[in-house]
Amino acid sequence: MTDPAATRLICPLTAPTVEQMRSDMLCAAESGADTIEVRLDLLDSIPDDAQLHVLLTDSPVDVIATARASREGGKFPQCDEAARLDLLKRAAKFDSVAFVDVELDVPREDWPAAPEKIILSHHNFVRVPENLHEVIAQMEASEAAVNKIAFAAAGPEDALLAADIICSCKKPTLALAMGEAGVVSRILARKFGAFGTFASLQSGCESAPGQPTLDEMRNLYRWNSQDESTQVFGVIGCPVGHSMSPMIHNTAFDKVGFNGVYVPLLIQPGHENFARFMQGIVERPHLNFRGFSVTIPHKHNALEFVTPENCDELPRTIGAVNTITVDSAGKFRGDNTDYAGAIDALCDKMKIAREDLASRRVALLGAGGASRALAAALSFYGAEVTIYNRTLLRAETLAAEFGCVAKPLNDAVATDAEILINCTAIGMHPNVDDAPVCELSDSLEVVFDTVYNPLETKLLAMAAAKKCLTVSGLDMFVNQAAGQFELWTEIPAPLDVMRKVVLEQLQRK
Ligand code: NAP
Repeated sequence: MTDPAATRLICPLTAPTVEQMRSDMLCAAESGADTIEVRLDLLDSIPDDAQLHVLLTDSPVDVIATARASREGGKFPQCDEAARLDLLKRAAKFDSVAFVDVELDVPREDWPAAPEKIILSHHNFVRVPENLHEVIAQMEASEAAVNKIAFAAAGPEDALLAADIICSCKKPTLALAMGEAGVVSRILARKFGAFGTFASLQSGCESAPGQPTLDEMRNLYRWNSQDESTQVFGVIGCPVGHSMSPMIHNTAFDKVGFNGVYVPLLIQPGHENFARFMQGIVERPHLNFRGFSVTIPHKHNALEFVTPENCDELPRTIGAVNTITVDSAGKFRGDNTDYAGAIDALCDKMKIAREDLASRRVALLGAGGASRALAAALSFYGAEVTIYNRTLLRAETLAAEFGCVAKPLNDAVATDAEILINCTAIGMHPNVDDAPVCELSDSLEVVFDTVYNPLETKLLAMAAAKKCLTVSGLDMFVNQAAGQFELWTEIPAPLDVMRKVVLEQLQRK
């Protein structure tokens, strides 16, 4: 293992010309890369010595010279093996070239540099190699200075495997699980004690699937703050690529000076996929994974995994856990901050306690997951709930479970409720001109739209025009994240910062 402080943040350069690559090199160093990988195979022609001079003389940071063979996912044709090794040999002569990457199957006598400069690599773009242990043993037994193994990840458990490899190797090692599912192996390379990790200069310049950008590594994933004791949190879901949770939680950790990092964990649908990853976490307490946000489609899987005994009554009744907390003894607990976030957003705006919801008449629009959490919580606090839904049968099933009344969505215009809560997707971006009701009944005093993109939905605009109190989905969203933050850190959530970061992200979208 490498001392985390020495783990290299490597920027691969993929430009087609020497001039562009040199310019990108300076840019990458300025953007925080401490090592550059020049992908010589991606240049549009083999550089001669003069061109190598332009590219490699006086580099601002250490350089890794790579000319990846096509058999391992690069652009250098197999028939040009002699030219490829000759190019690497010529590059290795430059002082700035600290390392030369050579594939494991290149015979020792053909290595283009001295062993102390060699990164011995193996890539599998399809799966974890079946002969993984053999590959690692071969690398460890070689004279090369550094091991590098990269394989396509089926799930984030393959990133945990990468951590195992780094930990078990005696030599400095790069182990990367490629693709979106394996991104945590890249983000946590420093915590795992890897020789380095790769981060692209900008989106679109990746040299392998799943590479974050330098900016994301440094500013979103807090690269410089990570060390062995950093606690790890993440959002489990499918998809997770556009989740705002990494931005909210990492910003909040930063604000309060908490040594944590929050990562995306893409897990395909299915209880077995969820359980496989969680088992990997159970088996590796040293990695310090301390909490998870859980989103679609895994909230019920999360409840089953933590087991109902380790949850409060409402998550059990709702049948969904959106927050898992792992304590210092490795015990798992499940919570649901979705319902709490929504109920508190409503009560805060109405300036009442949760208990004051008793006997209030509520019209709940929708009968999906969000509606289910609210129906359970509102009934728990004694509200009189009518569920209105397009598919009446779904409303009836939900209503029967929580002692509510069910009606068709079209009847909501004539509701006698004082509070209306929209839990349908109607009005959400891009359908911003839609509203779940064409008119608001005169009985309504409070209108809450759980949709938060756009911030002011058509429904909320209609409610404001009628002088109703309005509650936005943004408050619910920020509250549920704040609830998670407090469960994990036991520090009051920096609500203003969390809210600001969501607003900025929404405005950018
Ligand atoms: P879900 O389980 O898929 O349920 C969707 C609901 O919307 C169903 O009741 C569905 O009716 C109804 N619906 C969808 N399109 C419709 C249409 N064109 N016309 C009439 N009804 C329609 O989704 P969910 O997880 O409950 O989420 C629902 C919404 O809640 C989301 O879109 C999101 O905006 C919001 N939400 C917000 C937060 C937050 O933090 N602010 C958190 C979670 C959810 P049918 O049963 O007839 O299909």
